Formats: sequence, structure tokens, C-alpha cells
Amino acid sequence: MNASLATVAYIASTILFILSLGGLSNPETARRGNLFGVIGMTLAVLATVFGPRVTPAGYPWIIAALVVGGAVGLVAAKKVQMTQMPELVALMHSLVGLAACLVGFASYVDPTITFASPAEKSIHEMEIYIGILIGAVTFSGSIVAFGKLSGKIGGKPLLLPGRHWMNLAGLLVVIWFGRVFLQAESIDAGMLPLIVMTVIALLFGIHMVMAIGGADMPVVVSMLNSYSGWAAAATGFMLSNDLLIVVGALVGSSGAILSYIMCRAMNRNFISVIAGGFGTGGGAPAAAGDAAQPAGEVSPISAVETAELLRDAKSVVIVPGYGMAVAQAQHTVFEITKLLREKRVNVRFGIHPVAGRMPGHMNVLLAEAKVPYDIVLEMDEINEDFPETDVAMVIGANDIVNPAAQDDPGSPIAGMPVLEVWKARTSVVMKRSMASGYAGVDNPLFYKENNRMLFGDAKKMLDEVLAALKS
Ligand code: NDP
Repeated sequence: MNASLATVAYIASTILFILSLGGLSNPETARRGNLFGVIGMTLAVLATVFGPRVTPAGYPWIIAALVVGGAVGLVAAKKVQMTQMPELVALMHSLVGLAACLVGFASYVDPTITFASPAEKSIHEMEIYIGILIGAVTFSGSIVAFGKLSGKIGGKPLLLPGRHWMNLAGLLVVIWFGRVFLQAESIDAGMLPLIVMTVIALLFGIHMVMAIGGADMPVVVSMLNSYSGWAAAATGFMLSNDLLIVVGALVGSSGAILSYIMCRAMNRNFISVIAGGFGTGGGAPAAAGDAAQPAGEVSPISAVETAELLRDAKSVVIVPGYGMAVAQAQHTVFEITKLLREKRVNVRFGIHPVAGRMPGHMNVLLAEAKVPYDIVLEMDEINEDFPETDVAMVIGANDIVNPAAQDDPGSPIAGMPVLEVWKARTSVVMKRSMASGYAGVDNPLFYKENNRMLFGDAKKMLDEVLAALKS
């Protein structure tokens, strides 16, 4: 493939990636968006492999890498549970960061690269320095995020004394060594500042994510998504690959927009989240099952009684959370929805922007179960309807329906907008125990007079509710 054909293929890929992102912004067009992405990526890989910059001598290496990478991806896609997706995504981000670091070191020591002028050499070295910096922060930060999301590392923020000063000192050292690196006479002389900077960047990535509390993890996930895009763009600069630069910038900027949306959804200031320290009551993920301190009486309810409540209701709002994903209860939820709608009950879904463990988690599950999009509403669209709702059915959600976010200024989730299910005539919370959610905070909703607790695995309980509704 000659250079002009490869450029045309790159432009086509770029257009397909933009169409892909556009498609992914709406559940109805998401499948098409995904397809555009797959075609764009295939085209990009083919144009690169058969393009002018790869000689046939490189083919065995590329084929070996494709086989190994493809096999790992295939096994991961088959084995990983839907609930483990967020940690898998974090792990994938770390690989983008690692790739940027490795490409950076490789292109620094590459003896075949020649420069037309000293200025060109300096620009290339600057690209390497910044590329490795972003890559190393993304790599170590994503590994810690993986640990936090999988529950291997606790959600409690690590707040070292003078941490802001430490970060500032790290930044100054990185700038200083950047100068030493650019002035280095030889590759050997430049290697030391490059390694020192890499170590500092790795430590900074660990420190940055460790300082972020459990409740603020959604912002970290989207932020690392953005960083991985910038790391890919940096790799593109180092390899002089325009497509990688464009795609990296697309991922980087869409991740940054997502971080902003997440911050707004949680009523947080982006800088404060990054500086860390929020969510100081942060706990381990729900699976760890921290029992919250009881603060009153709870009223349990049976599946049969829940079915009666639903049958008698005119308006029902279902609020799904992480527990629905764990229990894989979305298909039964839809069965119940269909049955109630046949009985002319107005059933709608209320989706919190940070429900579950990754942006859009609930929308993906409901789309998989074929729930019609027009009854799936955003938090802002449904919140004011709760006073006119007969039953609010909370399925495996906790933090996103916690009234303490509004009532308790000392709560780690204070200020985060929540779905006001307690304003419905009756709310039913379906979960296995009194354990707290991801943020590790007690939930006063469970003790409210108009709230009932349906204890048990969400799938099992919903199956029983469905059976009772059918009988
Ligand atoms: P939560 O983690 O607050 O609560 C989930 C609840 O589900 C738990 O209390 C648990 O209680 C229950 N549960 C778990 N398994 C089951 C099961 N099999 N059947 C029934 N219930 C079950 O989830 P929410 O969705 O309410 O809130 C999301 C939280 O995750 C927020 O704090 C958010 O900040 C955080 N987060 C979100 C991310 C995102 O991008 N969306 C990323 C990272 C964190 P029990 O054990 O008693 O059953």
C-alpha cells in the first residue's frame, strides 16, 4: 500500500471513529456506533500494517503480537463477568499507558531515527518526555483504580501529610529533569533524567488515585479514560502517526467531557476530586459487605406482598443499581415491567449517572434486556415525579438513593444529587442485607416509615415477585 492510499485509509478511519463516538452517545444508535468503531479500527490496523512504514521483515512480529493479544482479549471477553467490566476497563487503560512508556523509551534509543535539524531533535525528545510522563501516570493510576474497583485495595482515601506539597515538589523535579534531559549530549546522559521522571510519574499516579475516596471513583474512571487517550495521542506524536494522534485526542477529550459530566452529576469540583480527600468514610465495594450500624427499625416485606403493592399501583418507578448487575436481574426486571404495563401500570426507570460501577452501566444492562428506551429516564427527568409515584422499587441500589446526601452535611456523599425515592408513597429496597454501598455509608432510607426492605438476591426475589404477579 503506498503512502497516499494509507493516508486515505487513515482519513476514512478517522471519520468512522467520529461517527462511532456520535453513535455511542445514544442507546438507540449505540450498536451502529460500535460497528463503525470496529470497521474504523480494522481499517486503521490494515493501513498501518500494509502501509509504507512497515517492511515485510516486521510481519512475523506483528502476526505474533496479534495472535497473543487477540487470544488474551478473546479469553478475557469470554471469562470476565459483566460486573467485572469496570476493573477490566481500568486494566486496559493501564496497558495504553504502559505502551506509551515503552514506545517512548524505544524511540529514544532507536538508532535509525535521524533529524534534519537540532530543533526537530528537541521537539522529538520533548514528545518522548511528555509521552512517557502521561503514560506512566496513566499506567500506575489505572493499576490502583483496578485494585480499588475490584475490592483488592480499600476505598478509603490515603491522605499523606503535606500531600499537595509532595505533588508540587514532584512536578518541579519533573520540570527540572526535563531541562536536563533536553540538554543531554548523548542517549546515555539522557537516560538517567528520563528514568527519574518515569519513577516520579509512576509514584504520582499511585498517589493521585490512592488519595481519592470511594464515592469519587466514577470521576477517576472517566479521568483515566481521558488520560489513556492523551497517552495514545502522545504515542502518535512519538511515532509520527497522525491517526493515533487524532484518535487519542478524540478519546482524551471525550473522557474529559465525561469527567465533567460525572463531576456535575456528583456535584463535585473536578480540581477538588483530583486533589483527593473526598469520601473519607469511603469503604470497600459492596461485595465486602460492611454491615452498617442500625439506626432504627426496618420493615421487611415479602415478595408476595411486593407483588400486591405493584399490582395495586398506578405508577411505579424502578431504580436499578450495582446489585442488579451483580444478580444479573435485568431480564426478570423487564418481564415484570411488561406484565405491569399490560395491566396498565405506568412503569418507568430512574437512572442515576453514577449507578453501578461504570458510566452508563445501567443503560447497558437495560438495553441488553430490551427495555424500551422511552421509559428509561435520567435522574433529573424523573426526580420531581416521585411524590406522584405509588411504588419506587430500588433494585440493588444504595448510595444513589441515600437521603444523607441531602440531609447530612458531614456525610462523605454530602451534596451528591440522589434519586428521591423516599418521596414516593412506598419505597421497596431490594438487597441482601443491611450492608452499605460503595461509598461505605449508612443509608437512612432503610429506616423510613414508608420504606420496606425486601431482603435477598435481587434475581431470586424478582423471580418470586414475577411468579406472584402471574399467579
Ligand atoms: P452501591 O454500591 O451503593 O450499592 C449496591 C447495593 O447492591 C449494595 O448495598 C448491596 O447490598 C446490593 N447488592 C449487591 N449484590 C446484590 C445482589 N446480588 N442482589 C441484591 N442486592 C445486591 O451501588 P449504587 O449503584 O447505588 O451506587 C453506585 C456507587 O458506586 C456510588 O457510590 C458510585 O460513586 C460508585 N462508583 C460508580 C462508578 C460509575 O462509574 N458508575 C465507578 C466507581 C464507583 P447487599 O450487600 O446488602 O446486597
